Amino acid sequence: RKVLVTAGEILVEIMATQVGQSFRAPGPLVGPFPSGAPAIFIDQAGRLGQPCGMIAAIGADDFGTLNLDRLRASGVDVSAIAVHGDAPTGTAFVRYAEDGSRAFVFNIPLSASGRIALTKEGRALLERADHFHVMGSSLFSPAVVAVVTAGIEQVKQQGGTVSFDPNIRAEMLEAPGMREALSQILERCDLFLPSGPELFLFTQAQTEEAAVAELLARGVRAVVVKKGADGASYHDCEGTVSMPAFAVEEVDPTGAGDCFGAGFVCAWLGGAAPREALRQANACGALAVGTKGPMEGTGTAEAVRRFLAAQQETTR
Ligand code: ADP
Repeated sequence: RKVLVTAGEILVEIMATQVGQSFRAPGPLVGPFPSGAPAIFIDQAGRLGQPCGMIAAIGADDFGTLNLDRLRASGVDVSAIAVHGDAPTGTAFVRYAEDGSRAFVFNIPLSASGRIALTKEGRALLERADHFHVMGSSLFSPAVVAVVTAGIEQVKQQGGTVSFDPNIRAEMLEAPGMREALSQILERCDLFLPSGPELFLFTQAQTEEAAVAELLARGVRAVVVKKGADGASYHDCEGTVSMPAFAVEEVDPTGAGDCFGAGFVCAWLGGAAPREALRQANACGALAVGTKGPMEGTGTAEAVRRFLAAQQETTR
């Protein structure tokens, strides 16, 4: 089976327990939970049984160990996760507003994740990689951009494939050189996996059809648009496949897009047709939204199979 590799931030997430809770006063929190978009992605891939690994950096602290233990238990190759003695593991504190939106207090650029570098172990992992996945959220510093760019080049040179989930906050795009770096990654990717409006980040197009046409013309092989509770659609030069989401109760949206992406990429790497890959991806997304915590809902291959079997029964 193909080897899937990603690189980027690892952190812990600590969550307010009450909707509408403020961070300007003490209040009840829950966590730490292992987190970081590329970590959630690779955890999901590992739990689906895909051979996979991650290039990252953590602090020599309990938050780092928590993540390392979790990823290892999920079957992820952690040999290229470096432990830094002089920078802590990143943190994200999240609270939920009454309108369903989330607000964060982050410490990621100044954490160990900001010091990610291509180590001997990272190079060895890349040499075994058939596919490299990029998360836009990881590209917060030139150091990470350099590692990601090296990963893309190495895997492409080996005849492998690349996927890119832009997963980016709008203000990140304004950082010097960022738009160019992202555009270059976009044009090197086989699979582009934007969430809703992210489809329009790199085009002037006004409609999904026009944006997809432009991206395919620029060299992207396929575009998968994530649409939250509305499901997802897949586009390539042969056409479009759309699929509604599974009807589940949304408990916590954190991580859904990352789990969806891993579900899709793993199926695609295994040669699945777009419809089958979308189905696995929607199932991974649905399991993720049904559980509180960024990585707590990532389903094993068995859990995804069981979920899909139950869905067939209810729609029959
Ligand atoms: P992101 O987390 O990147 O913003 P989305 O919110 O679009 O991504 O969610 C990713 C995927 O997770 C969706 O395409 C869908 O498969 C699944 N998903 C998200 N929200 C729901 C929901 N409320 N019910 C069922 N599935 C969902």
